[in-house]
Amino acid sequence: VSEESVHDHGFVRLDGCMADDLSVVNSARVSFGAKVDTFSDADTGLINFLMRERHGTPFEHNSFRFHISCPIFVAREWFRHRIGSFNEISGRYTRLKSNGYVPYDDYVRSQTGKPGAYTFEPMDATTSEHVSKVISDYYRTSYGTYNYLVERGVAKEIARLVLPVGTYTEFYWTVNARALMNFLSLRTHDTAQREIRDYAFKIEKIFAEAMPVTYEAWKEHGRVAP
Ligand SMILES: Cc1cc2nc3c(=O)[nH]c(=O)nc-3n(C[C@H](O)[C@H](O)[C@H](O)COP(=O)(O)OP(=O)(O)OC[C@H]3O[C@@H](n4cnc5c(N)ncnc54)[C@H](O)[C@@H]3O)c2cc1C
Repeated sequence: VSEESVHDHGFVRLDGCMADDLSVVNSARVSFGAKVDTFSDADTGLINFLMRERHGTPFEHNSFRFHISCPIFVAREWFRHRIGSFNEISGRYTRLKSNGYVPYDDYVRSQTGKPGAYTFEPMDATTSEHVSKVISDYYRTSYGTYNYLVERGVAKEIARLVLPVGTYTEFYWTVNARALMNFLSLRTHDTAQREIRDYAFKIEKIFAEAMPVTYEAWKEHGRVAP
């Protein structure tokens, strides 16, 4: 079990894991009624073959269960990945924490170009400091309004309407290695938003530790899900 912090209040925590390289080769070899108990060089070759030829199903017999804390806008991107299971904290049942993501230093960026070919550039120090302050002030106002509404007796499910998408949420995500590789392929790519990329790189590290041979083969064959 490992936990990595991300940005100001976020984290990626591996809550449970049933994943190894051996399950990949055994589920592939069941086609021939064969099974091995220890991993060999031939198995590395088999995993590379499966990855290269895009025989994806042997990479599905495993499971990673993550506990994530991230801003709502990152979660929204994350939840688009349909192959996996999600459960999220409820804004109906809990009073949401008054913490929002404040981008720091060069995370405050400008955007130029056309859709599909944007360039994002860090802004100068004075501007980024100002922007971080504007965002923090806005959070203060919106969380103040949220707390005011809750204290007036308004249902939390209505009071939350005033909260920004930078507000932190948390969720559990259970996913197999094949869908995980698809997630990593898309969300570590330099075209993905920088914030979700930071999370995806933490996930990548955990994946690499659990399934090192699969991980190397995935990198070798273009970081694309088989
Ligand atoms: C840089 C970037 C920009 C994006 N911009 C936008 C945007 O502007 N608007 C927007 O709406 N989304 C956007 N997305 C989200 C994107 O369209 C996908 O919804 C998201 O990346 C999930 O990918 P996925 O469908 O491959 O993953 P999953 O849903 O986890 O699916 C995994 C794989 O399963 C298969 N699969 C799953 N469901 C189906 C299905 N119904 N039919 C057929 N095959 C299926 C596919 O092979 C798929 O690749 C963006 C994503 C990225 C990375």
